[in-house]
Amino acid sequence: MSAPTSSRTVLSGSPEETHRLGVKLGQLLQPGDFVGLVGDLGAGKTHLVRGVAEGAGVARSEVASPTFAIVYPYRGRVPLYHADLYRLADYDELYATGFLDLIGGDGAVLVEWLDRIPQAAPREYLRITLRDTGEESRELVAEAWGSRPVALLTAWLSADR
Ligand code: ADP
Ligand code: MG
Repeated sequence: MSAPTSSRTVLSGSPEETHRLGVKLGQLLQPGDFVGLVGDLGAGKTHLVRGVAEGAGVARSEVASPTFAIVYPYRGRVPLYHADLYRLADYDELYATGFLDLIGGDGAVLVEWLDRIPQAAPREYLRITLRDTGEESRELVAEAWGSRPVALLTAWLSADR
């Protein structure tokens, strides 16, 4: 994969801080945005997504506790599609779910475990890699490919949070 156009690292000191980071990202999301989440079990991917959903105006009750679905559609200020590739074997299996049709569509797309099927990503997207660096601390590395994802990244991590 080519080097990202832009990259930033941010540290979170608590689940609440990660949640707030998610809220701010969710407030900025627009239809067509694609955000890939990478990180081990317990890194905080779903935690971040819950914040994103809140920021995108999704009712708290809509954000599913994990089920066996691959894609969860949420109704927010923009439609939000939350996918989890953990249980998928390969690209063909993902293709069969219809998920790929959502990319670049009417909503924003958030994908946990994007590293399982990297070909699921469009050419331009934002990738956030979370890493457990201590009991309550996490490192978030955000990498953007393409002009819209770079603008999203810049706005997200601007100073006023
Ligand atoms: P994943 O989806 O990556 O498997 P989850 O979001 O489901 O991870 O779980 C993350 C766990 O780590 C939660 O239990 C959360 O409370 C805990 N945690 C501790 N510190 C943080 C932090 N700074 N950010 C996010 N989660 C944290
Ligand atoms: Mg998860």
